[in-house]
Amino acid sequence: MSIIIDGKAVAADVVAKVRIAAEKLIAETGVVPGIAVVIVGHDPASQVYVASKGKKAKECGFHSIEHALSSDTSEADLVALVQKLNADPKIHGILVQLPLPDHVDAGKIIQTISADKDVDGFHFTNVGKLGTGELDTAFVPCTPAGSMLLIERALGRDLSGLNAVVVGRSNIVGKPMANLLLNANATVTIAHSRTKDLPALCRSADILVAAVGRPEMIKGDWVKPGATVIDVGINRLSADANGKSKLVGDVDYASAAEQAGAITPVPGGVGPMTIALLMANTVTSAFRAAGQAFDFDAYS
Ligand code: NAP
Repeated sequence: MSIIIDGKAVAADVVAKVRIAAEKLIAETGVVPGIAVVIVGHDPASQVYVASKGKKAKECGFHSIEHALSSDTSEADLVALVQKLNADPKIHGILVQLPLPDHVDAGKIIQTISADKDVDGFHFTNVGKLGTGELDTAFVPCTPAGSMLLIERALGRDLSGLNAVVVGRSNIVGKPMANLLLNANATVTIAHSRTKDLPALCRSADILVAAVGRPEMIKGDWVKPGATVIDVGINRLSADANGKSKLVGDVDYASAAEQAGAITPVPGGVGPMTIALLMANTVTSAFRAAGQAFDFDAYS
């Protein structure tokens, strides 16, 4: 049986380190890490995410503000708000919750966020820094950054000689994940909906990352014995006869766990890491604003 990678425990460890780092920064410089979350409209899932981000920020000792705007907010008003937050010295991280209403160009809003406060890591400057290996000054998107921490816990920081397959090529998960793995010296293949013979490709992976959005697509016989399997997928199945719905990943957990050396569960794997890394990116930004480098490893 495989080792179950406990994302909840690793995320709690990250949040504890962030809290200690924030306390130290406040004591030494008076700079209080600040995060602003902007939400437009009433999407219930987005509201849950935003509430949990605010709660976690308070847990970390941050100054946390939320702008909840009506769904008919104009693009110009949203741009103006982001520019105001860019100029606010109390705010070190700006997050605009996606999706945005159709009449707003999400790309334009993301690129309006100052790259220095782009704790989601979606600004072209941060995408470019990750792509060129400038990780010391980049913000890396939270879900792949969290997935990478879980891989490090399982396999260490140097992945030399290991084959990694990332299934999914989105800008928020697949591509940054592949860049992080490459940066750690893995040999990386990115698969997507046009990939031929995906099961065979997956079987070549020492590290298999699933970021597809298709419930339980990756089966146990696609997994190389002993591989490390990171399941990024979060899919809610429709309610059963008892009216209960269930969250599953992109990996068929029961069969994959029989093959894998280590595997993340859903829920409790990658999910909790995303918000923890958002907090880590925000405290990093606050350290940079105070003219200090943030060394995550210094906190334990
Ligand atoms: P996305 O933007 O929809 O991208 C999905 C990717 O999967 C695309 O590159 C697509 O290929 C590929 N794909 C779709 N069907 C495929 C198939 N049959 N075979 C091979 N590849 C296929 O999704 P995403 O935003 O990256 O999210 C992926 C999953 O992660 C979702 O379940 C999402 O809910 C979850 N997620 C979780 C977190 C978290 O906090 N844990 C955060 C973000 C996302 P093409 O490019 O060819 O279309």
